[in-house]
Amino acid sequence: MQGMMDCVVFTEVGKYEITQKPIPQLKRPNDVLVKVLACSICGTDVHILATPPQYPAIPGTIIGHEIVGEVVECGEAVTGFKPGDRLIMDNNIACGTCEICKKGDYNVCPNMKSIGMEYDGAFAQYLVCPDSNLAKINKDVPLDNAIFAEPLNVAMGGMKKLHIMPGDNVVIIGGGPFGMYFTKLCKMAGAGKVIITGRSEARRKYLLESGADRIVNTREEDLKAVVQEEMPLGADITIECVGTTIDQCIDLVRPGGTVLVIGLNDKAEQTISQHWIARKGITILGSFIGVNVLQTVASGLNSGQLDFSYMITHRLPLKDFEIGLEAMRTSQAIEVVLYPWDDIR
Ligand SMILES: [Zn+2]
Ligand SMILES: [Zn+2]
Repeated sequence: MQGMMDCVVFTEVGKYEITQKPIPQLKRPNDVLVKVLACSICGTDVHILATPPQYPAIPGTIIGHEIVGEVVECGEAVTGFKPGDRLIMDNNIACGTCEICKKGDYNVCPNMKSIGMEYDGAFAQYLVCPDSNLAKINKDVPLDNAIFAEPLNVAMGGMKKLHIMPGDNVVIIGGGPFGMYFTKLCKMAGAGKVIITGRSEARRKYLLESGADRIVNTREEDLKAVVQEEMPLGADITIECVGTTIDQCIDLVRPGGTVLVIGLNDKAEQTISQHWIARKGITILGSFIGVNVLQTVASGLNSGQLDFSYMITHRLPLKDFEIGLEAMRTSQAIEVVLYPWDDIR
């Protein structure tokens, strides 16, 4: 397909341009040309556009990576998709040939490149993606559910490691979108009580809707005292979604419990109580994006179980990207959905 399309391009530190670029073309035999039906703004996009950038992207690249799309054209080696299919995407493209990839841990491939950072991304009307990074969903899955596929791929990567048991008590530090995903996913997996931290009054209702039993505003309440009251043994599982509180997670988990670390902050330095990791016999799990869970996300969307549509706070045409970005920057927004064809629904 030839022609021009609307898109948002990262130009230089802290800057972007809403502009037009040629519709991308298939380059490799396993490429798929995808029409973007909707795309949402990720915290990563906010970090890319921060000054100084807190996440790298190549100037000149179309940013954005959270999409619901539709197949337009398939490369000659693509067998699993056909024009018209509805799609979700994992935007992280591993090399597939290094020794880490060959061990199966492609999510931590040292040669990883990502759509929306190194390759042209989703704040556009079309994008090109290899078929290995796409999964089909049913057409009757509401767009409002499917738009959460990429962050859910990340959260489900963590869930897959957790082996949560029915009745397990969970403490989550960080009441942002990932705190909400984990609250609901843990409840769906049978968690007993879920305690989560949250300082924003506006976000309370979203945390409650996600299933939180207790929201602790750590400016007003002592988290440890609340956990001792609600979970006398300590939490079976603590989940770190901030990037700076692993020590607290180690402190709050029960002897023999599990800490899942998902928060990222490469500037933060922390003191970690190694003694208590050993003494309490704790398991600490790090999780970065998802490994082989995109298909599970697709199944969860198809069955209707993965419905986080209550988290959508903004719906905007792509040309109003600035409004959405500002809402994300100021934490007014939880989920901002952009519509590159102006067909807001
Ligand atoms: Zn994202
Ligand atoms: Zn690799």
